[in-house]
Amino acid sequence: MMKIKAAVLRELNNELSVEELNLDGPKENEVLVKIDAFGICHSDYHVVTGLAQQELPVVLGHEGAGTVIEVGQGVRDLDVGQSVLLNWFPYCQKCHACIAGNTNHCKTYMGMLGQGKMLDGTTRLTDSKGNSVFQLSGLACWSSHVVVPDIICTKMPKETPPEVAALIGCAVTTGVGAVLNQASVHKGSSVLVYGAGGVGLSIIMGAVSAGADQIIAVDRSVEKEEMAFSLGATHFIQADKDTLQNVKDLTDGLGVDYAFDAVGSPEIAEMLLPSLRERGMGILVGVPPTGSKIQIDATDLFRQEKIMTGTIYGSADTAVDFERFAQMYLSGELPIDRLISKKYSIDQINEACQAMLEGQIARGVVTFP
Ligand SMILES: [Zn+2]
Ligand SMILES: [Zn+2]
Repeated sequence: MMKIKAAVLRELNNELSVEELNLDGPKENEVLVKIDAFGICHSDYHVVTGLAQQELPVVLGHEGAGTVIEVGQGVRDLDVGQSVLLNWFPYCQKCHACIAGNTNHCKTYMGMLGQGKMLDGTTRLTDSKGNSVFQLSGLACWSSHVVVPDIICTKMPKETPPEVAALIGCAVTTGVGAVLNQASVHKGSSVLVYGAGGVGLSIIMGAVSAGADQIIAVDRSVEKEEMAFSLGATHFIQADKDTLQNVKDLTDGLGVDYAFDAVGSPEIAEMLLPSLRERGMGILVGVPPTGSKIQIDATDLFRQEKIMTGTIYGSADTAVDFERFAQMYLSGELPIDRLISKKYSIDQINEACQAMLEGQIARGVVTFP
């Protein structure tokens, strides 16, 4: 057992408390990882507000990277000192989805990890009073150290900075994967992105690498304009009631080839098809509220042959894509480091969450010097 420092959610809609917790060592097929960096993703905040259900108290965090410092029995592929990215969507390589290469649809581990427990149904964390603390996604990387199943660790090329590896674990794979895997954005096309946070900016990066000519970013917050341009957007629209008209004005009245909703709002989802030209594709990327319904104009699908779809975790085969995106960063094709507006210490976790909510930053990252 060791003492660690972690950000604990004890009460919904409340600040996180940074606490010293006890962490049990790795059991069979588990490893102990020292966290080097983690990102602040909006999905973590859905747990704080109760939009995503999770038993409390819980350590949040699903976008992280670190270094293996101890391996449990039966671990074959990982050694002490290995840099790893933590995958919140591990896959079994045996089920129908995995064999088809759609590891983002593997359901084998979802049950237990989704409840915030390890695969044996327990957690490795206790607080100072000896009470169990849940681990979001079985991962809980808003912490100095984690014990995780070895299957969630993906080796990273050694030169990859940990904060870049962390972002590949969620925002980058979600956004870049949406562009390259699900939409297959074509060279010379026009792309529209609603929401210029970590995921939206990753969509912009992906669209640049796919060779899109026109990339329009839409956000409520004018602070995002500069970030969007720095990642390759060609136009910025500050969202208001005239947004659709502004999109039309920028595209000779036609609309774009691809429109992405990186926010996960039903109102934006309903704007995707009207933003598109004929045969265009609208893609839901942000997490929509469970059970939400949207209305679409049937003639958009029939006469205009538009396509409406979505993507979970960038439709990525993470067995391949994590490494691919890390290599694209190292070769300069994906400037992932530009997503990181600010670095924090774990003691500043509430400040980092607040900055994300206020839309001041692209991605905030906590690092451990
Ligand atoms: Zn995330
Ligand atoms: Zn599977």
